Amino acid sequence: MLRRLDKVVPQHVVIAGAGPAGLMAAHELIKAGTRVTILEKRPSLGGLGGTTVFEGRHGTYRFDFGGHRFITHSPDLLRLVDDLVGDDLLTATRRSVIRLGGRTYAYPLAPLDLLRNAPPKLLAGAAFDLTKRMMRPKNPAGADFASWTESRFGRTLYRTFFAGYTEKLWGIPPDRLSADWAEQRISLVDIRDVFRRLLPGAADNPRTYARSYRYPRHGFGVIFQRLAERLAKEGASIRTGVSVTGFGIEHGHIARVLTDNGPIGCDAVISTLPLPEMVRMTGSKANLRFRGLRFLNFCMAVPDVSPWTWQYLSDPDIVGTRLQEPRRRSPDMAPPGMSSLMMEIPCDPGDELWTMPDDPLFARIRGDLVSLGIDPSRVTGEMFSARAATAYPLMTLDYRTERNRALAHLCKIPNLVQCGRQGTFRYIFTDTAMEMGQMAAKTLLAGDDRRAAIYEHRNEKTVIEAESVA
Ligand SMILES: Cc1cc2nc3c(=O)[nH]c(=O)nc-3n(C[C@H](O)[C@H](O)[C@H](O)COP(=O)(O)OP(=O)(O)OC[C@H]3O[C@@H](n4cnc5c(N)ncnc54)[C@H](O)[C@@H]3O)c2cc1C
Repeated sequence: MLRRLDKVVPQHVVIAGAGPAGLMAAHELIKAGTRVTILEKRPSLGGLGGTTVFEGRHGTYRFDFGGHRFITHSPDLLRLVDDLVGDDLLTATRRSVIRLGGRTYAYPLAPLDLLRNAPPKLLAGAAFDLTKRMMRPKNPAGADFASWTESRFGRTLYRTFFAGYTEKLWGIPPDRLSADWAEQRISLVDIRDVFRRLLPGAADNPRTYARSYRYPRHGFGVIFQRLAERLAKEGASIRTGVSVTGFGIEHGHIARVLTDNGPIGCDAVISTLPLPEMVRMTGSKANLRFRGLRFLNFCMAVPDVSPWTWQYLSDPDIVGTRLQEPRRRSPDMAPPGMSSLMMEIPCDPGDELWTMPDDPLFARIRGDLVSLGIDPSRVTGEMFSARAATAYPLMTLDYRTERNRALAHLCKIPNLVQCGRQGTFRYIFTDTAMEMGQMAAKTLLAGDDRRAAIYEHRNEKTVIEAESVA
């Protein structure tokens, strides 16, 4: 039997955050006739799923926060996105590579490509590890990223492709990271999978990798811009530039949401705010941290920089972790005859890479571009940075205990439902965040306490991309 969430069905719900989760929660509540106020601290909507428009000398460029693709397990969600974006919803093919030590490898690692491109020492090491793995297939994996990955791929591939990249991305050594991230994100199962695909008749695509995906012609953010327009027409009050700063709690219930623009009375709250921030605003503490990202976006005076959507930059001495060419997703991401690049640079709010002005940062990555075969003299000089302070939940070894404690703390407030990527401290894709938003609305409407199910939604230990319908 589910516990009753709260005594009354709410008439007015405040939604904190206008990212994919918050907007989908509003969509569900409005359908049921509930009054909704959405509060968003940024001037724009869509959260990490938004797209920034940049007017350059040669026309309009568009940049996502790191280049998003829409993949989903849910035909209903795909139908909604189709309906919102219409003919502007393209089907794109992902073409990604790993750049390392002056060489270019297929991403995910592919056996024939490895045989063609890897230096003999690497191949000999990988072959030795494979033989060992065949003889001792049940190599126990540890709870940390380093031992999990090494037990599956062997020491050589782990050290070459994973160790340096992972430390650069997360800012901590891989043996202090939980294996949870590897379990959901590594697009191969183990070293035998890499080589099994050499056999005649084997599928070319690893079972955990979605090659094609949906993408709106004018950037990922169009999905959420259109959704917000629809919500506004249907009566939602959407207030941008308003930060939630705390909660007025009476008899254990949230009676008011406090903002930098005054308090707002409500019957219930759906929050997509970062979990540690929510815990702090409700009078406790959570030892949970995020890794930030800075995106250096710049325009290129060439029609095409490369054939690749993403380049994973594995060399530890290159500052960025990924380089993206938005035009590879949709031709309309840059004006005709021009292109653009986005360098994804992991850092933390306030550190040197976070605060450095664009010009010196570009001077610093200039040499990296040259080493990647990109001519910096074709950069037009037009550039800007976007920053995401809470891009990745930092999954340290003990993060689960802290996360569970934080969620249990918030569950003491019966008219509060927490959801979304930062909200539940989960490394999830947009579709899961959208589904969480819908679930949050449904639990308020039904009055049953389904919050535990929301927090673990799609938490099966399979790779996220498997069986995508897009
Ligand atoms: C680099 C990168 C690449 C990604 N690529 C993909 C991809 O290819 N495909 C995919 O499906 N997903 C991708 N994702 C994940 C996707 O961005 C998220 O799953 C999704 O945006 C989560 O939605 P959300 O609503 O939970 O959170 P968010 O999008 O972060 O929305 C939360 C909102 O809350 C607002 N907010 C925060 N604090 C306050 C406050 N105090 N008051 C008011 N508002 C506040 C924020 O400004 C934000 O708008 C990627 C993420 C990153 C970082």
